[in-house]
Amino acid sequence: MTILDGKTAACKRDESLKSRVSELAKTLGRSPKLAIVLVGDDTLSAHFVGLKKKNCEALGIECLILHQDEKITQTELEKKIMALNNDKTVDAILVQLPLPQHIDSNKIIELIDYRKDVDGLTSKNFGFLAAGKPYLVPCTAKGIVTLLKDGGIALDGKRAVVVGRSNLVGKPTSQMLLRENCTVTVAHSKSANLAQIVANAEILVLAMGNPDVITPDMLQHGVTVVDVAMNRREGKFVGDIYTPENMPMLREKCAAITPVPGGVGPMTIVSLMENIVTAAEKATQPSA
Ligand code: NAP
Repeated sequence: MTILDGKTAACKRDESLKSRVSELAKTLGRSPKLAIVLVGDDTLSAHFVGLKKKNCEALGIECLILHQDEKITQTELEKKIMALNNDKTVDAILVQLPLPQHIDSNKIIELIDYRKDVDGLTSKNFGFLAAGKPYLVPCTAKGIVTLLKDGGIALDGKRAVVVGRSNLVGKPTSQMLLRENCTVTVAHSKSANLAQIVANAEILVLAMGNPDVITPDMLQHGVTVVDVAMNRREGKFVGDIYTPENMPMLREKCAAITPVPGGVGPMTIVSLMENIVTAAEKATQPSA
């Protein structure tokens, strides 16, 4: 069984990113810049924002964190986004989710200029992907397909099953796999006969956030499993199927699997870095 190591794959992609960033710096006369809007003092959100900043800086990308008070109003936050849209020195915008409950998150996301929307979450970027003309693609979906391709997993003509249909992971991943000529089935919490659907998968993407639904005995031999989930258990992360107790049977059944942690996570981060660089590069092109 091959372990699809996201850390190593992400490090390799960092090298080419560094040279793209230094080319961009020459063209722009400054470093490419990401602005992150962080609202409130949630520790986990602050941790993720810190991680993104660290990754940006390691590549020579400037990262500006706009830390807003928890009580910021919808109108004030909308103004911040509009200002960032109009700021020519900002190439990329990211709003750290979740936002406080009194904020209409969808409205805030939709306000981001799609050309700077490096999370790929605006309807415009979603529509481009669905129409087969991707502009900026959601980072986890992009990271999953990159990891599979870099890992030498053949996708063309394969039966792929994606369990989970969120806008963040499941839906864009299914679109990306369709672009790779997979025959894609999307399953969710209302799917009947989930075991039967899963048993049919040659490529299985698990993005539920629940380790108690799918067990290794349901898998067909030779399947490639992408375990996206990050479930906390006894202070450690486990996937939807990648757990210590499942490993003996997974080794028997799977041709390849992504570990948790160290699989999709690092690929999500490097895909974000790629989106930032892509957004800045596209802005320098005449058709942008
Ligand atoms: P989400 O918005 O909660 O979506 C979960 C999806 O799983 C939903 O579509 C849900 O179906 C489906 N689901 C839940 N229970 C199910 C069941 N028993 N049977 C079949 N389907 C079921 O979560 P998300 O944002 O997509 O994230 C999914 C997981 O990936 C989480 O563990 C998250 O932490 C992880 N994640 C990891 C990364 C990374 O970089 N590694 C990035 C993003 C997310 P319904 O639509 O019917 O409710």
